[in-house]
Amino acid sequence: MEFDPCAILGVSPGDSPEIWKKAYRRLAMRWHPDRNDDPQATERFKEIGAAYEALLSGDDEASENPPADASTAATPPQAPDIRLSLSLTLEEAARGCRRSVDFIRSVDCPTCDGSGEAGLARTRFCSACHGSGRVHDAHRRLIPCGACHGKGLFTERICPDCEGHGKHRTPVHLEITVPPGMLQGDELRLTGQGEAASGELAAGDLYLTILLEQHRLFQLDGRDLCYRMPVDALLLLAGGDIRVPGLAGEVVCELAAGDSVPREIRLAGAGYPGRGRHPAGDLRVELMPVFAVDLTARQKTALRNLHEAWMKEAATHLPAVAEWRRRQGLD
Ligand SMILES: [Zn+2]
Ligand SMILES: [Zn+2]
Repeated sequence: MEFDPCAILGVSPGDSPEIWKKAYRRLAMRWHPDRNDDPQATERFKEIGAAYEALLSGDDEASENPPADASTAATPPQAPDIRLSLSLTLEEAARGCRRSVDFIRSVDCPTCDGSGEAGLARTRFCSACHGSGRVHDAHRRLIPCGACHGKGLFTERICPDCEGHGKHRTPVHLEITVPPGMLQGDELRLTGQGEAASGELAAGDLYLTILLEQHRLFQLDGRDLCYRMPVDALLLLAGGDIRVPGLAGEVVCELAAGDSVPREIRLAGAGYPGRGRHPAGDLRVELMPVFAVDLTARQKTALRNLHEAWMKEAATHLPAVAEWRRRQGLD
């Protein structure tokens, strides 16, 4: 068995040395071998002495390491927190916004001060014996009900204003400010806006969990703002300015000439705004090439002209074909 000085003396580590001393002296008197015939008296007496010495020698150590519950004692007990969710559009959450929040808070009934008891007497039947005042024991014998002391009912004095609940449900309306850049699942804490203070309890807190509504265009990847955008394949080939939607409006960016295959443009810091130590995300647009359909006659001609011009440089683009044509005497 483990040697526990406090358990042996029946004291706690937080007690003063005077209390330890009193406990030691009381037990030492009781278990002194000269006064006690118990065959274990000598052993108990030694144990008590050792426990007291151990407590005294650990005294300095104990005062340097205060009991663990000292930290919890520093924060006063609180009434329960209230947790709600707050649904925002991506734009509202990004920019920050003002919102009104409505909820129900329980407050102490002022008539009975939260006790639920006041002037009015009410009779309640005992549920343990269903009002009969008698119950069966283990041997199926009828005995008086212990819960109601055989009366079968309780008489209570209840508060007419809260019907004995001690609380009133009060609608609360708050205007709150949502700071910019909160993400799905982030919590907004409003100190003291939870359940009301009651007796010894300080008011609880209100926690609002952010829910982001689906956006038709944008998706979030962390704080990166992402979407796919169809782009004329000819523009991907030719390069040029392109307008892309962002949370703060349209952004013009320059597209380098290249292939007509999907590619991503990435605008650093132009995505979802930063918050605290988290920097703003990027705007990532995946450009999906599409070929124009339903061209007008004039547009078709323009494209054919483009093709003819391109073919004039066939020797560069298609050297094997150009050589074959030359040998055939076609050029
Ligand atoms: Zn009963
Ligand atoms: Zn009341």
